Amino acid sequence: MGKVLLTGGSGFIAAHIVDILLAHGFDTVVTVRSDEKGQRILKAHPDASKEKLSYVIVKDVAAEGAFDEAVKSDPPFDYVLHTASPFHFNVQDPVKDFLDPAIKGTTGILKAIKAYAPAVKRVVVTSSFAAIINPQKHAEVYSEKNWNPVTWEEALDSSQTYRASKTFAEKAAWDFVEKEKPGFDIATINPPLVFGPVVHYLNSLDAINTSNQRISNLIQGNYKDGLPPTATFLWVDVRDVALAHVRAIEVPEAGGQRFFVTSGSYSNKDVADVVRKAFPELEDKLPPRDAPSDKPADVYGYDNKKSIEVLGIQYRSLEESVTDTAKSLLSIGA
Ligand code: NDP
Repeated sequence: MGKVLLTGGSGFIAAHIVDILLAHGFDTVVTVRSDEKGQRILKAHPDASKEKLSYVIVKDVAAEGAFDEAVKSDPPFDYVLHTASPFHFNVQDPVKDFLDPAIKGTTGILKAIKAYAPAVKRVVVTSSFAAIINPQKHAEVYSEKNWNPVTWEEALDSSQTYRASKTFAEKAAWDFVEKEKPGFDIATINPPLVFGPVVHYLNSLDAINTSNQRISNLIQGNYKDGLPPTATFLWVDVRDVALAHVRAIEVPEAGGQRFFVTSGSYSNKDVADVVRKAFPELEDKLPPRDAPSDKPADVYGYDNKKSIEVLGIQYRSLEESVTDTAKSLLSIGA
């Protein structure tokens, strides 16, 4: 056990990490961008004392010295989980909106820990399958060994900006450790598309996190006339991703490792089929039963062995994940 700083506490994945940290007995401090978000998190956990759960404000992770104060704590932090990074597809200014917060946010927190939080033993960085995939030439089987070869020039093309932001941020983290030799080690968690229940205290229908938007659209009838391209054919449940973050600080051998956390492959058609079976009352809103799947027969494979063997993750099925996601979305009014 110990004390953990979790950045981006208002995020979809972070909300589940908070629950697991508390359940596993960690004292938890989250960073949020406003008092309002911090208060919502505290209110949702009325049983957690001030020592167990609190928040600090970090308005913009890209700002110089953004984490210098947040990493100082008494008693000091033992671990840091860095999830805060922009994830949406509304690219106005690739550098300011994505690349800076992703890269400078990551190097900034590592620098601040090295300078002001010497008790920290491990930092877990939320990276992504985006930092693994090679969209130009897919690997036959993706694993932790693969890296997205995206260049800075390509990153400025909005279709590649998000994936590049995750790739450069993760590279910057590994480079930092190699060059600066800090007193902590790092681990990265690399999930593909994350589905799973949203927590009610952070969400409304017009602010559904990016990776659940396709399930939200589906159950609202927006894909009645046809499904959009699946695009990334691998997925994972948010509760498994959250557990992977916590296991990455609990398991000593996780230090210095990347973890590709995926439950397996899927297509939007598979998601629609799960919803059709679990919620017959939504039939009128769903695409035609015989809509084709766009998953190629030779779709890339995945190797998630390390996450199972080292972190002990037992992945949820698509049926469970999509059903629970749809249930949570319906309960907030979808
Ligand atoms: P969310 O958008 O729900 O969470 C992102 C979090 O980052 C929010 O707390 C957000 O704060 C915070 N944030 C974003 N930009 C800044 C900034 N400039 N300064 C301070 N805080 C900021 O997304 P997810 O929970 O899905 O994503 C969390 C992490 O997981 C990200 O690193 C993402 O790249 C990664 N990931 C997500 C996947 C997915 O499918 N969901 C897949 C692979 C990786 P606020 O709420 O105030 O905007």
